[in-house]
Formats: sequence, C-alpha cells, structure tokens
Amino acid sequence: MRAVIEPFRIKVVEPIHRTTRPERERLLRQARYNVFRLRSEDVLIDLLTDSGTGAMSDQQWARMIQGDESYAGARSYYRFLEVVNALTGMPHIFPVHQGRAAEHILCTILGGPGKVIPSNTHFDTTRANIEYTGATALDLPIAEALSPETLHPFKGNMDVKRLEELIHRTGAERIPACFLTLTNNTLGGQPVSMSNVQEVKATLDPYGIPLIIDASRIAENAYFIKLREPEYADRSPWEIAREIFAIADGCYMSAKKDGLVNIGGFLAVRDASLARRIEQLLILWEGFPTYGGLAGRDLEAIAQGLQEAFQEDYLHYRIHTIAWFAEQLRQRGVPIIEPPGGHAVFVNAARFAPHIPAEHFPGQAIVCALYVHAGVRAVEVGSLMLGKRDSNGRHIAPPLELVRLAVPRRVYTQSHLEYVADALADLFAQRQHLRGLQLLSASPFLRHFTAELEPLEPSLLLSGDTVL
Ligand SMILES: *Cc1c(COP(=O)(O)O)cnc(C)c1O
Repeated sequence: MRAVIEPFRIKVVEPIHRTTRPERERLLRQARYNVFRLRSEDVLIDLLTDSGTGAMSDQQWARMIQGDESYAGARSYYRFLEVVNALTGMPHIFPVHQGRAAEHILCTILGGPGKVIPSNTHFDTTRANIEYTGATALDLPIAEALSPETLHPFKGNMDVKRLEELIHRTGAERIPACFLTLTNNTLGGQPVSMSNVQEVKATLDPYGIPLIIDASRIAENAYFIKLREPEYADRSPWEIAREIFAIADGCYMSAKKDGLVNIGGFLAVRDASLARRIEQLLILWEGFPTYGGLAGRDLEAIAQGLQEAFQEDYLHYRIHTIAWFAEQLRQRGVPIIEPPGGHAVFVNAARFAPHIPAEHFPGQAIVCALYVHAGVRAVEVGSLMLGKRDSNGRHIAPPLELVRLAVPRRVYTQSHLEYVADALADLFAQRQHLRGLQLLSASPFLRHFTAELEPLEPSLLLSGDTVL
C-alpha cells in the first residue's frame, strides 16, 4: 500500500470561517495589504506559520492538567528538564517563553558592535536580535541553497570554506559563536547533514569558537538525515538529534515548532560560566530559572510534545505531507523551491511574477492575491521580510523572493492543502495581472510584522472585476 495516513484520529474540531471575495478585498485594504494585520477569523486556511499553530495531543492536554504552578522548583520543571536533558545532553538548561527570548539572552551576552555571528542562514528573529546589539549577522549557505531548482539532499548546509575564510579575514576574537539553524527555515526549510555539522565544528574548534544549534525543527532535520544520509538509515530520529547536540556547545529551541506546543522554548549550554550569565538575564527578563516565563502546564506540554515529535510514524506523515503538497503545486505548474523542505512549501515568487521588480515585493503581491482569491494566508519571505536599504535609500534585495506556505502540525488535511494548490494554480494562470506594492510605513527591525503597504496601481487580482 502506498497511501500514507495521519497517525492520529480527530477528537476535537474547530470550525473555519468563510468570507466573500468583496469582504476579503475590504479586509485586506483595512489591513494595509499586510496579512499579519488580518484577524484570524477572516482567514479560511492559515499557512502564515507553523509556529505555535500545531494541534496538541490528548496526552499533552492530559499532562497540562497535571501542571505544577509553584513559583520555584515545580514538579513540571523537573519533568521538562528530564526530557530536554535526555535529548540534548546539555548540563545547563533554561526554559524560555519562546525562541526569541533565548536569542535575546544569548545575543546580549555574545553580541555587540564589531562582533560577527555567522550561520548557515539566520532566522529573521535571530538576525534581528544579533543586529540589535550592533553585531553583524552573516549568512554562509552553500551555493546550491541560492539556486531554487538545484536538487541537493542537504540544501541547509553551511559553506565551510567560506566559514574558514571568514575566520581568517575577521579574526576569531571577533566571532563569539557560530549558529546552525536546523532546518534552515529562511531558505526553504532545508535540512543540514550530520557531516556538515561535524565539518562546521571541526572548522571552529582550532579557534575555540562555540557552535550553537538553533534546534527549532531538529526532529524534522533528524528525519531527513535518516532518509538521506546512508549511515543513519537504521538510527532513530531521537538518536540522530542526540548525536547533533553532542557535537554542539549550546542550543536553543522554539518549542512552538518541533516541541508541538503553542508556546515555549529552551536555551541550553555546556559552559558553566556562560550558564551563570544566562541565568542572571533569564531572571531579569523571563522569570525564575525553573519556569522561565512559562506556566507549569506549558513545561508539561513541552516534555510530552518533544517525545511525540520524534516518533517515526509522525515524522513520516509530516515529511510526506509536505512532499505531497509540493507535488500538487508542481503538477499545476507553480514554481517552487526544490526539493521541498520539512515544514513548508516555498513558492518561487521571482519566477511566478517576474514582471514585478524586487523593490515592489513580488512575493507580497502573490500573498495578497492568494488571500483575496481564496481566503488563504501565506507569508512573504523576500524583499519585505529580509530586504534592506543602502545609505542612499535604495532597496537591497535578499537572494530569493519567496512565498512560504507553512503547514501547521497535525491541523490540516489533504483536502485543505489541495484547495490551496488549486487556488495558487488559478493565480498562476492569471499572473500577468499581479501588481507590485509599495511601503507606506515600516519599523527598522522585523518590519514585515507591522509594515503598511498599498498597491502601486489598481490590480484586477486585488479589487474590482473578478477575473478568476
Ligand atoms: C521560530 C523560530 C525562531 C524564533 O522563535 P519564536 O518562538 O518565534 O520566538 C528562531 N529560529 C527558528 C529557526 C525559528 O523557526
């Protein structure tokens, strides 16, 4: 039998809301053409993010009620600690309310003007937290990662040669740490191979530069290693993840991804003196070290969720779902990043709408049209999210213009995704009607969350006559 099934059945359902096309035209206009400003009730299928949007299991909900809400030393903390320690092997573990809290603490300690922190590719909040300290966030992906249709089993890998050159050019003393993002969200949810993690570590070691793993999607990454790196075919994803952590000097995780929870995360390190500094900032910003900004019930949910996320049945279904979704888009001619990653399918907006220049946000034009046409919310990962301006105010585009269709964990079925594929195929057939947008206002950091935009010229796909 070839059919891959969901390794669960549905016990609770949540209705989704239909809107009409004229309503969506008005709602998007009111949201200033930024889908982050929409109300979720006005969205039919929400592929904005896979972060914190997953469905918890009956086991997780059962553990929630057992949450110990004591301020200090709660039983729930020790359950959390046991699982995170078993997974990471790190001696110093701190709960945080989500991934960026870990980044904030870590970057405050490691960053500062003149410092450079390289990565395979920094996630947007990581980059922002590094830059906020005055340090430079540098992406060193392998060349294949920037070529949307080039097939490579581990497009998330770091370019080790460029890392070596950077260390020589910059001097190790200015590089307080090297990050590796597993999987590499910004460039398509692409995995990093075990051999790349080992090579990066071997490159850093002679200079004493610590390796920090951004483990937000470590389970999906471990499963890709099992599928694609022959030596690991017989190892469990949990064992593979343990081996990755064993190489690293520290790690952090947004448990809103592969922790299968709606809020939470952790930061973990080997070095005792670094741990002491983390603890001080944790108490200042997050909370006492045995809860770190989370309720006891959240710690319970993470402890259970982490174990479920590594189950092979679940990971097989998860990775297969994304591959199936990608195949649906491929069959409909929609250009996507190949091969598809672990948590999302990324549409190649530069090929979808080549007539819209980067400074007019081709990805955002597709995101807006997809919402108006079908009530589907996606997110732009391109010039709006990652673009910069030079000193003359000219737009500097990132290497890729993408639209991310992130699939929440255990939430949508095959027919939901088929609907999205059909909607994108409709838009693709009418793509010459897509029109660019311009920024009305934007904040200096993470501007895509709050930016206000307007269409440059009337677009049939956004308002007026329905062409579809
Ligand atoms: C989501 C994410 C973060 C930030 O975590 P939050 O929980 O959203 O604060 C960091 N790194 C990666 C790779 C992520 O996907």
